[in-house]
Amino acid sequence: MSAKIRLYVEQPLGQGQSVPLTREQAHYLFGVMRLAVGGRVALFNGRGGEWLADVAEAGKRGGTLTCLELSRPLQLPPDLWFLFAPIKKARTDFIVEKAAEMGAARIMPVQTEFTNSERIRQDRLQAHAVEAAEQCGGTFVPEVADLQRLDKVLDAWPEGRQLMFCNEAEVGSALRLAENEKGRPWAILIGPEGGFSERERARLTTLPYAHVVSLGPRILRADTAAVAALTMWQQALGDWA
Ligand code: SAH
Repeated sequence: MSAKIRLYVEQPLGQGQSVPLTREQAHYLFGVMRLAVGGRVALFNGRGGEWLADVAEAGKRGGTLTCLELSRPLQLPPDLWFLFAPIKKARTDFIVEKAAEMGAARIMPVQTEFTNSERIRQDRLQAHAVEAAEQCGGTFVPEVADLQRLDKVLDAWPEGRQLMFCNEAEVGSALRLAENEKGRPWAILIGPEGGFSERERARLTTLPYAHVVSLGPRILRADTAAVAALTMWQQALGDWA
C-alpha cells in the first residue's frame, strides 16, 4: 500500500482524519494527476510524519482525503541554519530548493554589504522549500525566513550555535571542518557573487563561534558553494553518517 503522489498540507494528520483540499490541491490531484475516489496519496504537514491517505471525495474545486495509516515517522533534520545572500531570482530559487533537499532546518536569506537584492519574495521561496520536501521524500519543511541584515543577525546570534563561515579569501587553503563540534546547533554562511567586504570578513573571522573554511582551490559561484558547503557539513557533522 504505497502512494506515488506526495502532498504537503497544513491540516493536522492522524488516524481517520479527514483532510479538506484547497482548490489548487484538488486541481493538481484530480485534474493534473487524474486521481479518483479511492486513489492513494501520501500526506505530510511537516509535524506529524507521512500518512497514507485515500480520496473520499473528488471535485473540480475541492475534495476530501482520509488518513489511513502512518507510513513514515517524522524525520527532523540536524539543527542547521543555512544563511546565504540572495542573488538573481532563478539562482536564489535553486539555493532554497537545494538547502531544503540537503537537510537545512532553517533557511535564512541575509543582506550583506555586496548583496544586490533589497527584498525577496518570502512566500515564493517558502513554496520552493515545500516542493523540494514533496519531491525528496522529506517529512519536514524548513522555514524560509524573511530577508535580514547580516550584521543584525550576528548581533542577535544565539549562544552556543557554531558558524561555518565559507570565506572565499581562503580559496586553496586547507581549512576544513573539524569533527569535534558534532551534535551542536550550527549555521552555514555563504556570501553573494561579490563576496564579503573587508569589514564583514574582519568581523566574521574574529567571532568566537565562527569556523572559517575553504571550499577548495577554485572560487565557486554562490549556488555551487551552497551545495558544496552543505555536503561538507553533512558529511562531517550532519546526518549522513
Ligand atoms: N566574487 C568573489 C567570490 C564570491 S563567491 C571573489 O571573486 O572573491 C560567492 C560565495 O561563495 C563566497 O562569498 C563564499 O561564501 C563562497 N565561496 C566560493 N568559493 C569559495 C571557496 N573556494 N572557499 C570558500 N568559500 C567560497
